[in-house]
Amino acid sequence: MEKPLHEGYLASDVEALKRSISNNLRYRSGKIPLTATRGDWLLAAELAVRNRLVERWMKSNTAYYTQNSKVVYYLSMEFLIGRTFQNALECLDIREDMEEALRDLAVDMEEITSYEPDAALGNGGLGRLAACFLDAMATLNIANIGYGIRYDYGMFKQEIIDGYQVETPDYWLLTRGNPWEFPRPELQFNVRYGGHVEQQNGRARWVDSHRVLAMAYDTIIPGYDTECATTLRLWSAKATSEINLSAFNKGNYAGAVEAKNMSENVTRVLYPDDSTASGRELRLMQEYFFVSASLQDLIRRHQLNHASFDNLAETISIHLNDTHPVLAVPELIRILVDEQGVSFKQAWSLAQQIFSYTNHTLMSEALETWTVEMLGRILPRHLMIIFDINNEFLSMVAQKFENDNDLLRRVSLVDEAGERRVRMAYLAVVASHKVNGVSELHSELMKESIFADFARIFPERFTNVTNGITPRRWLSQANPFLSELIDDRIGKNWRRHFEEIGRLKPYANDPAFLGSFKAVKRQNKQRLARWVRNVLNVNLNPDSLFDVQIKRIHEYKRQLLNVLHVITRYNQIKANPDVNWVPRSIIFAGKAASAYQMAKDIIKLINDVAVKVNNDRDIGDKLKVVFIPNYGVSLAEMIIPAADLSEQISMAGTEASGTGNMKLAANGALTIGTLDGANIEIMERVGSDNIFIFGNTAEQVEQIKANNYQPREYYERIPELKQALDQIRDGFFSPDEPGRFRAIYDSLINYGDRYLVLADYESYMATQRQVDTLYRQTIRWDTKAIANVAGVGYFSADRAISEYARNIWNVEPIEL
Ligand SMILES: *Cc1c(COP(=O)(O)O)cnc(C)c1O
Repeated sequence: MEKPLHEGYLASDVEALKRSISNNLRYRSGKIPLTATRGDWLLAAELAVRNRLVERWMKSNTAYYTQNSKVVYYLSMEFLIGRTFQNALECLDIREDMEEALRDLAVDMEEITSYEPDAALGNGGLGRLAACFLDAMATLNIANIGYGIRYDYGMFKQEIIDGYQVETPDYWLLTRGNPWEFPRPELQFNVRYGGHVEQQNGRARWVDSHRVLAMAYDTIIPGYDTECATTLRLWSAKATSEINLSAFNKGNYAGAVEAKNMSENVTRVLYPDDSTASGRELRLMQEYFFVSASLQDLIRRHQLNHASFDNLAETISIHLNDTHPVLAVPELIRILVDEQGVSFKQAWSLAQQIFSYTNHTLMSEALETWTVEMLGRILPRHLMIIFDINNEFLSMVAQKFENDNDLLRRVSLVDEAGERRVRMAYLAVVASHKVNGVSELHSELMKESIFADFARIFPERFTNVTNGITPRRWLSQANPFLSELIDDRIGKNWRRHFEEIGRLKPYANDPAFLGSFKAVKRQNKQRLARWVRNVLNVNLNPDSLFDVQIKRIHEYKRQLLNVLHVITRYNQIKANPDVNWVPRSIIFAGKAASAYQMAKDIIKLINDVAVKVNNDRDIGDKLKVVFIPNYGVSLAEMIIPAADLSEQISMAGTEASGTGNMKLAANGALTIGTLDGANIEIMERVGSDNIFIFGNTAEQVEQIKANNYQPREYYERIPELKQALDQIRDGFFSPDEPGRFRAIYDSLINYGDRYLVLADYESYMATQRQVDTLYRQTIRWDTKAIANVAGVGYFSADRAISEYARNIWNVEPIEL
C-alpha cells in the first residue's frame, strides 16, 4: 500500500483558509491585496479549495488500486458541468468558513464567484445528465472515470441582438485558464486516422495512417458527504509535430503552422447540436479521437494490475452515453486483437459483457449513421471489424429466426438502401449487454419503435433507468433559502438521501411552513426580477405568476405552443381589459442550434411578441414576456428557484425524459405538461392533483397521425387560434417585416404541423385557465407546490446511479 507523503489533511478552519488564500495570492499569482483583481482573489480561493479536494482524491485513487475495484468508464461526448467553486465548498462543507475567511480579507465571496466561467462542454440535457451522474458516482463511492473531450470552445455564447440569436465563441480557457484541471503531459496517446489495412500472416495491420496526439487533462469530481473524489479525464488534441521550421524560415508562416492547426482542430469546438447527426467528417474524427484515447488508457490501467485480459469483464464496465462513443466497440476489439493478440472470438465476447448503452432519442433524424465510404476512408480497420461483428450477428439471427431475410435486412448494421451506411445505434445495441431508455415511457416506446426487432432478438437486454438530477446542485446550491427552510424541519440528510425529502409532506398543510415557503419563493422571484431589470431592462412584478420554459429551442419541445398561449392571452386582455386577470410573467430561455433556422425564427418571434406585449400600456403588469439570453447551468440555477409554473409541453412521445422538469418540481414549481417522458413519473410521485396534465397521449398522437391529421381544421374551427396565427402570418408582431414569420405559419398550417401544436392548443388553453384559477388560491397553490418538493425524492441522480450500478454495471462501492 502506498504510504501517504504526509499524515493528515490541511485544516479547513477560517484561519487556515485565510492562510491558504493569502499564500496562493502571493506565491501563485505574485500579487498583494492592493493590486489583486477579483479574478486573482477567486483563483486564490479556488486553489485553496482544490488543495483540500486533492487530499480526498489521492485517498480515493489509492483505494481504487488497493481494493482492485471494478471501474466504470463513463464515455460521453458532453459534460455540462457549469461552475465548480460553490459545489466544491458544499462537498467539503466549508462554505461558511470560506465566506468568513474571504470577508476577513475584505473580499465578497458572492461577487468573486460570479467571475467563474461555466464549463459549458455540452449542449443541453444529455451533457447535464452526464455531469449529474459524475456527481452521483462520486457521492456513492463508485470507482469511475468520466471520459470526454476538452473542447477549446464550449457551447457558443448566445446574444440576443434586435431579437435575433447571435452566436459568439465561448473561449472559456482564454481569460484565466482552468484552475480546476491538472494537465497530464505524461499521459498522451496516438490516435490514428486514414491509411489502409494489410493482411500479414492472417493478422491485420493498419498502415499509412496519420496521427494526432491526445493529451489528458484531469478534473476532480468530489462526492458529497464522503471522502470519495473521482476523475473526469478530458482529451485535448496536440499536433504530433510542432511548426514546420523550414517553411517558417522561408517566410511561409501560414504553411508552417498548417499541419499543427489541422491536428489540433479535432478538439477545437463542441458541435452545437445534439439532436441531428452532423454529417461532418470532423465530428466523426472527434468521436473516434476521445474514444481511442480513452480505450488505450483504460487498457493501460488494466495492465497495471492484471497479466491477462481473461478477467477484463470483471474489472471494467464501459458505458456509452448515447451512440456518440460507440466506436469504442471496434476500438476495443482492434486493441485486443491487433495489439494484444487476443482472438476475435474472445474479444467480441468480452465486448458484449463490458459495454452498456443509453439511448436518448427516438427521433430518426437524431440517430447517427456514417457512410461506409467515409468510415472506410477515415477508419479502415474499424470498418472491417464492424463488418466482422455484423457477420457474427447476422448468422446468429439467421439461425435463430430461420433465415427471415426481411428481418436480416432490417437489423443489419449496414443499411444497404441507397448509399451504404453504418447504423451506429444498432451497433450499440448488438455490442451491449444492457440497453436502457431514460424514462418508463421512452423505454417502452424504444422497444416498440426503433429497436422493435432487437427487442425480439435480445428480449433480456432492454431495460429502463429513469433519469435523475443531483439535489446538491439543483436544490441545496441553487436554492439556499428553501434549503435552509427544509433543513429546519427535516434536517440536512436529504442532500445525500433525497428520498427523505418525502418527510416534508406533512408540512404542506402547516400554516407556518406555508408562510415561510411563500416568503422564500418571493425572495427568489425578487432576485430574478432584479437581474432581469438590470440586464434586460424589463420590470417583472414578483407577485405575478412566473411561468417558465427553459430548455433548448426545438420544434418538438413546442415553445410555439407557449407563444400561442401568450398571444391569445394578450388578445383576450385587450378585448376584456376589465377582467381581473392573474398577472403573468412568461420567461423563456434556451439556445437554438446555429443551423436550425426554424428554431431561430421561434426565438425572434418570442422577442417580437415580447416587444409588443411589454410596451402596450393597456397590458401593464398583467402580462410580461422575457427571453433570457445565453441559457446555461448557472442561469438555470438562478431561474429555477424563482419559477411558479414549469412548462414541459413537448408532443407526447418525443421528450425521452427531460430533467429540467425534475429540477423545477424540486424547487416548488407546478408542472404544466403532457404525458411525455418523465412527466408521467413525476405525476405518479407528486400526485395527479398536484400537476396540470393536458394534451394528446403518445398513443393518441400515433392515431392522429395515422388518421391523416389536418391542422387546418383546428385553425378554421377555433377563432382565438386563427386570430393568433393570422397575426403571426400578417406581421402583427413584425410590422417592419410583415412576412418574417411566414415559415412558422406555413409549418403549422401548410406543412402538416409535425408536432401537433394545433391539436393540443385547446386542451393547453383550458389547462392554463385552471392554472390561473388555482394561482388565485394562494394557500392551495403553495400546498401543491410543497407536495411537489416533497414528491421528487425518486428523481435523484443517486437513485439512477444505484440502479445502473446494480442492474447494469454490476459494481459495488469502494470503502474509504
Ligand atoms: C437541465 C438542463 C437542461 C435540460 O433541460 P430539459 O428541460 O430537460 O430539456 C438543458 N440545459 C441546461 C443548462 C440544464 O441545466
